[in-house]
Formats: sequence, structure tokens, C-alpha cells
Amino acid sequence: MARYGMVVNLDRCVGCYNCQIACKDEHVGNDFLPVAKSQPAFGQFWMAIQEVERVVSPSHIRVNYTPVFCQQCRDAPCISAAKDGAVYRRGDGIVIIDPVKAVGQKQLAASCPYGVIFWNEEQQLAQKCTFCAHLLDDGWKEPRCVQTCPAGCLNFGDLDDPASPAAKLLEETRAETWHPEFKAKPNVYYAGLPKPMLSGRVLLADKNEWAENVSVTLTDKAGLKRDCITDAFGDFAFDGLEQKTYTLKLEAPGYAGQSNEIAVNPDISYLGNIVLRR
Ligand code: SF4
Ligand code: SF4
Repeated sequence: MARYGMVVNLDRCVGCYNCQIACKDEHVGNDFLPVAKSQPAFGQFWMAIQEVERVVSPSHIRVNYTPVFCQQCRDAPCISAAKDGAVYRRGDGIVIIDPVKAVGQKQLAASCPYGVIFWNEEQQLAQKCTFCAHLLDDGWKEPRCVQTCPAGCLNFGDLDDPASPAAKLLEETRAETWHPEFKAKPNVYYAGLPKPMLSGRVLLADKNEWAENVSVTLTDKAGLKRDCITDAFGDFAFDGLEQKTYTLKLEAPGYAGQSNEIAVNPDISYLGNIVLRR
């Protein structure tokens, strides 16, 4: 039996929202019993695009797009939270909320650590992405969102079949599960998940101008060393960092160097203006 999963190549996502629209087109107004009842036109996105803005400099905002949907967990908290077997995992790995048994089970909406279950007040039903199980059962090779993605970001297939595109991409990339701390063992993997970043802009105090060609070095206690020079706007940036403490050094001929310990975390990345003095 297949183990259906998805490998999401975030480097390819352009934030076009085609996947979200395809999901709406497939599910709004359509019941696909026994795996799903219709998705409301508003208020639910079984496929959602999370946009995160990261400041590289005042003139450069980097936007990361992350498709967010049911992770089809092998250790699914939603299954544990269900009464009367209202949520179950099929033999192909797809987790289904039974649209009949789950009626009235509002606790399901809060059970998913990924926040991808929605409560349908009108139908009194918890709902989520089904990987378009009704289409797969009809012989389709992939869900609508994957079919419609123009960028090759969404890669669907049998993760246990080494020949499937998803399994190949999983092998080739360093794709990882999202939020492994939830310990839910997802069958969805992401390549290129945003990592913490450190950036800043260097200013020469005596000239009151941005400092080009300043040597910037980042080191850590494990021996990592990365370096760059500031651009014409005095900007520097290091991406793909870990959440830990680094030492940041700035050196420019004729100016007093600076060395600072900086605790990098996902929320704080832009250091603002750093002033060098003679
Ligand atoms: S992502 Fe949430 S809804 Fe999907 S299987 Fe995991 S716990 Fe259940
Ligand atoms: S269709 Fe593909 S490229 Fe467009 S937002 Fe969705 S995942 Fe990203």
C-alpha cells in the first residue's frame, strides 16, 4: 500500500495562490462522501499560504511563502482527540475526518497543533484537507493543488516508492518536517524552510554615509565562520542560521572594529544601523 505524502519545495513557491484557488474550486459546494463535505466559500482555507516578511534592510524586504495544509501525520493528535473513531488514517496514510461521525465534535478543531482544522458552524463539522482523496480513489495521480501549481513547488506521491517525484525530491533535498517539536510524524516535508537571518546596515560616523566594503564576519563556538562585505548601501545579511549565539565582527581600515555577541532567533533578525567611528 502507498504512503501518500508531499514534499514542498519552498524555493520554488512564488506566492501565486493557484493552489488555494484550486482547493476552493474543488471543494466549495461539493460533497465528496465518505471523505469530505463541502468547504465553505469563506472563512476556511484547507490549503493556505503563509506569508512571512523578513527585513534584510530598510529597502529590502524578503517575503517567504509557505503552503500550509494538513500534514497527514502518522502520530496524529486529531485522531487521539476524536470520539467514536471519527478521525482515522486510511491504508494509504491519508487522515480523514469522517463527515458523519464527526458532527458536533468541536474539540477536533482545537486538536491540531498545526492549526489546519476548521470548524464549520453551519454543518457543525470539523474540516480539513483530504489530499483530494476522492480524486485519488478515482484514479488521479495527485490532488488539485499539486496539479495546478505552475512552479513545481508541490510534489506529491508515494513516499515509500523511490521512483515517485516526492520520494526523489525527499532524497535529493534536505527536506524536513515542519515543527518536529509537535512529534506528530507528518507525511509532509518542506525543503528550504526559512531559517533565522541576521542583517544590518553600517554607517560611517565621521562622513555620515553608508559604509561600503566593510568586512563582516560571523562565527560560533562550534567553529563556523561566514563572512561577507557590505554593499553600496552598507548592508550585510547572513541567512540560514541556527537559533543560537554568534559573534559578529565588523572591520574597516581606519575605523575602530566592533565585536558583539548576538543571540539569533527567528523573530529578531535586523540589527538596524551599526555606527563605525575612527
Ligand atoms: S496536521 Fe493536524 S489535522 Fe492533519 S493529521 Fe496532523 S494533527 Fe491531524
Ligand atoms: S500554486 Fe505553487 S507556487 Fe503558487 S502559491 Fe501554491 S505552492 Fe506556491
